[in-house]
Amino acid sequence: MRIIIAIASVLLTFSINADEPPRLNEVKLIDLSHTYDDKTLFWPTSPIKFEHPELSYGPSGNGYFYSAYTFATAEHGGTHLDAPIHFFESGQTVDALDLNDLMLPVNVIDVTDKTTANRDYLLQVSDIEAFEKEYGKIEKGTAVLLRTGWSKHWPDAKAYMGDDTPGDTSKLSFPSFGVEAAKLLVARGIKLLGIDTASTDGGKSTTFDVHVVISSANIPAIENMNNLEALPQQGAYIMALPMKIGDGSGAPVRVVGMIKK
Ligand SMILES: [Zn+2]
Repeated sequence: MRIIIAIASVLLTFSINADEPPRLNEVKLIDLSHTYDDKTLFWPTSPIKFEHPELSYGPSGNGYFYSAYTFATAEHGGTHLDAPIHFFESGQTVDALDLNDLMLPVNVIDVTDKTTANRDYLLQVSDIEAFEKEYGKIEKGTAVLLRTGWSKHWPDAKAYMGDDTPGDTSKLSFPSFGVEAAKLLVARGIKLLGIDTASTDGGKSTTFDVHVVISSANIPAIENMNNLEALPQQGAYIMALPMKIGDGSGAPVRVVGMIKK
């Protein structure tokens, strides 16, 4: 009996690592997505933002209340996931992604200090090396999120994107990944990339090298994440569930962080 109790208590001990996924009754859930509404930010060239016309709101006339809307939006706006096909012709579409690749232990690299000094800061290999010195080598099959502190600017387009001129991408300015850093993360075997700015390439990019590097490695990415400050740099999990759009190049995504209660 004592042995059984001992085994049970070992099984109940909270553990959150790459080998053992979190137990949902033992974690606090953190919402890492922004709300979709008329303030949601989109790329300046997007032909559509988030449209949400009302169909019905109020008494139905048949004794019950009834509310319904339609919605229309671009795949790449708000908190959304880029499927690998976004920048790689033979990459996976969003509906083809394996759910096992969307629930992962997560590393959070913090460059808030650097982005405060330089709003076009790009993650460097040396930042990854500094992270690994403190937390150990980034493990294969994990997710890497870049915390820039930028979600505090949401939904102020000028502060968040650097410019709010519709149709003009020439003056965009915000931090992101550097291409050599992205190549190192691909070499580490990560399965998912994420960031709390509008793109996995910096605002000044015109060639989208990071998009090409990660898409070519069949790694999806999440952009415009929220609340990354609430995650520890290591020890949490994330679950990212994009809308299952057939043949989609990306989709709105609800991202949930899981940390020890
Ligand atoms: Zn995108």
